[in-house]
Amino acid sequence: MYACPCGSQQSFSACCERFINAEQIPKTPEQLMRSRYSAFATQNEAYLRKTWYPSTRPDDLSLPTDQEQRWLRLVVHESQQQTNQGRVRFTAYSVQGKKAFILSEDSLFLREDGLWLYHSGTCQVEEYPISRNQACLCGSKLKFKRCCLA
Ligand SMILES: [Zn+2]
Ligand SMILES: [Zn+2]
Repeated sequence: MYACPCGSQQSFSACCERFINAEQIPKTPEQLMRSRYSAFATQNEAYLRKTWYPSTRPDDLSLPTDQEQRWLRLVVHESQQQTNQGRVRFTAYSVQGKKAFILSEDSLFLREDGLWLYHSGTCQVEEYPISRNQACLCGSKLKFKRCCLA
């Protein structure tokens, strides 16, 4: 079983992949947010484009390659939903080269014609202090240096 990148403890196919493959439509802002995180983690630019509000979507969405940036972990802190508007507050950990970063974001989602779309967010990125011997952030239980920091 390939675990879903979003950290839900479900398999990818039972979790975010069904949205990414357009088999199902996310019913909540959090489901959309998780699936977009998984799309970032698997470099699925088409899905990110499709789920981005047209007026705020960047023209150029070139994602870093898996070699340049890897997403290790997502933690959703809070999600709220009104009829056609929602917010999700989360942090996401990534590694670039020998450094780890933590992104904290408060995202706004809007629903149009029944589809949740990412509108915008306020975010902050900070370097995350790590030691090579600590448990890897991806949850593998291996040491960082033996896992995602390699
Ligand atoms: Zn997922
Ligand atoms: Zn790891």
